Amino acid sequence: MDVLPIVTYNDPVLKQVAKPVTKDTPNLERFISDMFETMDHAKGLGLAAPQVGHSIRLFVIDADGLDEEDPSASTPIGRRVILNPEIVLESDDSITFEEGCLSLPDLRDQVSRASEVIVRFQDEAFETHEMTLRGWTARVFLHEFDHLEGILFIDRISAFKRTLHKAKLESIDANEVDAGYEVAPKTTR
Ligand code: ZN
Repeated sequence: MDVLPIVTYNDPVLKQVAKPVTKDTPNLERFISDMFETMDHAKGLGLAAPQVGHSIRLFVIDADGLDEEDPSASTPIGRRVILNPEIVLESDDSITFEEGCLSLPDLRDQVSRASEVIVRFQDEAFETHEMTLRGWTARVFLHEFDHLEGILFIDRISAFKRTLHKAKLESIDANEVDAGYEVAPKTTR
C-alpha cells in the first residue's frame, strides 16, 4: 500500500465532476487500499478520489465514534469505501458546524448541511446499499460527495467569509502551507 500525495486547493481536478466507477476501472482494489492508507496517514475522516488526482466517483470514510458526547446522534457507517454514491433525499432542516478538508490544510469554517440524508451507493463488490444517515456521518458523507461534484466546503460559505480566507487560500494554492502530509505539486494550468 502507498500513501498518495494529496491534491490541494485550486487544482483543476478538484473542480471536475467525477466519472462513475465501473468493474473495468483499472487497479481498483489496489487504489482502494491506497486511499485508506492515505486517509489514515493524513488523519482524515474521509478522502475522495479527486483529492489524490483521480476524477472517479469513489471515496473512503471512517466516520464512526465522531460524536462522543452523543453517539446516538450519529449513524454508524463504519470504515468503508463508497462507490457511485447518490443523495436520494436531504432533510429540510440543517445543522451548522465547523469543517476542515485535507485539500484545504489549516483552514476551517462553519458549514451548513442537512441534518439527515438518505443515500445510495455501491460497495467494493458493486453491491448496492441504501441508508439513512444522521449527524456527523451525514455531514462527512455530504462533504465527500461534494468532492465528486467538484465542490469544496469553501464553496458553501458566504462570499464575505471566503474573502476573509483569501490570504490562506493563496498560501495553499502556492503550496506554502505545511499540511503535515505529502501534498501533490500543482498541475499546470
Ligand atoms: Zn474535503
